[in-house]
Amino acid sequence: MNRGILVVVSGFSGAGKGTLMKRLMEKYDDYALSVSVTTRSPREGEREGREYFFRTREEFEELIAQDQLIEYARYVDNYYGTPREYVDNQLSAGKDVILEIEIQGALKVKEKMPDTLLLFVTAPSAHELKERLQGRGTESPELIKERLERACEEAEGISGYDYLLVNEELETCVDVMHEIIQNEHYRIGRQQAFVENIVQELKAFVKGE
Ligand code: 5GP
Repeated sequence: MNRGILVVVSGFSGAGKGTLMKRLMEKYDDYALSVSVTTRSPREGEREGREYFFRTREEFEELIAQDQLIEYARYVDNYYGTPREYVDNQLSAGKDVILEIEIQGALKVKEKMPDTLLLFVTAPSAHELKERLQGRGTESPELIKERLERACEEAEGISGYDYLLVNEELETCVDVMHEIIQNEHYRIGRQQAFVENIVQELKAFVKGE
């Protein structure tokens, strides 16, 4: 069995990543979505262990000290990190794992694990991003401004990603994301187990076994 693919999905705040991930998981049962740890407070409707594991700063630092996070980053005054154990287990079981994380973390993961697939999601325009952030109604104007400033910084890192997805229409975007990930399975480098197996079989034939 081949190992699963580690897929990182990043995107500007307001690009609709959350909805996109939710729909991808509903529509296709090929993926395991990693739940991150964060020090930010839960938003209305968010549940412990579903959107995030909500932890104090001290608890978060303890996880770092014990090397239990694959990566972590600071984002607008809070820490966010990816628990290692779940990701390792799922990949070993051949499942594709999705991390929905910001750009600093994404680039760290790529550095440590170069065969990670990096996808970047954006809304069709900056105007739309702002409208979506305002429409969400969960952040103050100052926080929206900070998130837009952060988007400007993040834009500089887009060229480090493998694919750009413009989230104009949700269903189309979900399907394109699924296709990209599925196509990735066909890379030779990801089919080593299969290649080795068939080579062994061929050698056995040649020897007349
Ligand atoms: P939010 O507060 O809107 O849920 O998330 C803020 C940002 O943190 C988003 O860009 C999200 O992708 C990112 N994020 C969520 N979990 C992680 C994580 O485990 N690691 C990193 N580096 N970023 C994360």
